[in-house]
Amino acid sequence: MLILFDIDGTLIDTGGAGLASLNAAIEKIFGPGGPSLNLAGSTDGGIVRGLFEHFDRPFDSGVEEEFYRAYLPVLEGNLADSSFGGRLLDGAREWLEECRRANHTLGLLTGNLARGAALKLKHYRVDGYFGFGAYGDDHWDRNELGPIALARATALTGSRFLPEETLVVGDTPKDIACAHAFGARCLAVASGTFDVESLREAGAEEVVSSLTECLGRIHDHV
Ligand SMILES: [Mg+2]
Repeated sequence: MLILFDIDGTLIDTGGAGLASLNAAIEKIFGPGGPSLNLAGSTDGGIVRGLFEHFDRPFDSGVEEEFYRAYLPVLEGNLADSSFGGRLLDGAREWLEECRRANHTLGLLTGNLARGAALKLKHYRVDGYFGFGAYGDDHWDRNELGPIALARATALTGSRFLPEETLVVGDTPKDIACAHAFGARCLAVASGTFDVESLREAGAEEVVSSLTECLGRIHDHV
């Protein structure tokens, strides 16, 4: 079984450290007057595209890279700043451990750019669970990320994973849509900005209030 994890709101809550870092980079690269960002389920690539529109500038991949280079060191500093109150979410480490013990293949399916994902996971010491992922700088549209994750899972393990043998774990309707876009199932966790009811309405195959509810029940989910 292949299990693909979202990061923010699913495994960790940065306490706003991520948002503050994006806003600092917006100010530096695009100037004042940035939009108020809706991060839930968005990709970093999608956010940057939205910034070019907001500031009425043509998309430029060189400026996009400058933006990421401004964002990453601020993110690293903010993650280390305990005043944000960031934390690993309840049950996350324990469930990752259980999934690994059960010999499932674990990967990432996240809107974070790869370098940002690495910083976040390393800070909370859960980076060692993941050998590959599909990221917000692979494609700006989250619904395109599933097939990329499947291809990387195969490249890493030599096994072919079918979408129906794949579980996406995420916290927003966009994670659910992204899972269904490539034929996978979604376990939705109401530990981000969406509650159990709205994740059910968005069509998740299963909804839990936190990953703690999954402990000891891995065979029910995969
Ligand atoms: Mg999320």
